[in-house]
Amino acid sequence: MNRSISHALFERAKKVMPGGVNSPVRAFKSVGMNPPFIARGYGSHIWDVDGNEYIDYVNSWGPLILGHAHPAVVDAIKRQLELGTSYGAATEIEVKMAELVCELVSSVEIIRMVNSGTEATMSAIRLARGYTGRNKIVKFAGCYHGHSDSLLIRAGSGATTFGVPDSKGVPGDMAKDTLICKYNDVAMLKDIFEKYGSEIAGVIVEPVAGNMGTVLPHMDFLRALRDLTGKYGALLIFDEVMTGFRVSLNCAQGLYGIKPDLTTFGKIIGGGLPVGAYGGREEIMRYISPDGPVYQAGTLSGNPLAMAAGYATLTLLKDNPEIYHELANKAEYLKKNFCEIAKENDIDIKINNVGSMMTVFFNDVDVVDYETALKSRTDMYAAYFKEMLEQGIYMPPSQFETFFISTEHSYEDLDKTIEAFKLAMETLRRY
Ligand code: PMP
Repeated sequence: MNRSISHALFERAKKVMPGGVNSPVRAFKSVGMNPPFIARGYGSHIWDVDGNEYIDYVNSWGPLILGHAHPAVVDAIKRQLELGTSYGAATEIEVKMAELVCELVSSVEIIRMVNSGTEATMSAIRLARGYTGRNKIVKFAGCYHGHSDSLLIRAGSGATTFGVPDSKGVPGDMAKDTLICKYNDVAMLKDIFEKYGSEIAGVIVEPVAGNMGTVLPHMDFLRALRDLTGKYGALLIFDEVMTGFRVSLNCAQGLYGIKPDLTTFGKIIGGGLPVGAYGGREEIMRYISPDGPVYQAGTLSGNPLAMAAGYATLTLLKDNPEIYHELANKAEYLKKNFCEIAKENDIDIKINNVGSMMTVFFNDVDVVDYETALKSRTDMYAAYFKEMLEQGIYMPPSQFETFFISTEHSYEDLDKTIEAFKLAMETLRRY
């Protein structure tokens, strides 16, 4: 593929932007190549500035469950656009959005909109601390909750890719209040609570991890999270920025039947525009200003364009719940074929997925936590990624990420992807 215009843009970008990008993984560093610059997207496809076409499995890292430029979402944005883009004042669409999320997610009685997943988790942590009067939080190695200071520790995703799980600039004092536990490790979680239980404000967890690649929660782990937080008076925070409205219409908490105290959202609830949100039990959420003493605000929070896009997306999902079944079927179709092809070529892969969120790990052990994820062959992933990209299949440029199937991926798209996978596996035989 010729990507000369992208290359030229990247050279210009590097002169004026750190790494030439506005978010690290976009620089394609871990796969050792220059990134294509994207000009447009429609349905399941994107086109770069050189005119190359790709079937897109990144989907803006999860928000685009309805694919690119879905007519229902575009229409909703257009209608709002004509009325103005932001007022910094209360609007009806915010109320409708809040009502809809509260209706679909039973643990959420009250919700506050913010502008990103990072803001959502940062605010939820502040709320947990303000509500409980305690400082310590528990997070899990390999889970990513955005880049706020107290959460940027053993954070998976881009941080894993670049081998800097503890960012410079985070004061040591911050890190000391973040206790790190292994994902799916009930015994370790119990130990942490036995030692620090009365100091723990909350436990934040990706109920299906997506930022060390996709890692499924064990049911006893989720139950232990609920039981231990309840027993010690700590809040259970489900970070559903990625899983919210992705793994089911009632999010991961609906799928697994576990009710957290607080939930954070992002991605899908913005329909492709910048949004985050946090919500939960009324008694806790009333601590937020102006009702309560925990301060949190935002110039563009509840932005009407973002609310319109998110509301259109959630409404479409709610009115067509069979979508989740169809997405799961498509995921199983890819998974089955990928596994067969890898086996034929004698290549060890492990595929983890919950519905339409999925990772192909180049690994010979089951991936159940950060440690096992890190055993993956990143060199093989990079080679696979390049082969796929050359054949017009756009996968995440890192082993430690999740890919997503949208409603717009057709079986023809999936068959093309499977064909590309076949060629990629034949190439990988030499590894
Ligand atoms: N939490 C989770 C689970 C995420 O996957 C992400 C982003 N990938 C975030 C928080 C941060 O969201 P944002 O990038 O919108 O700040």
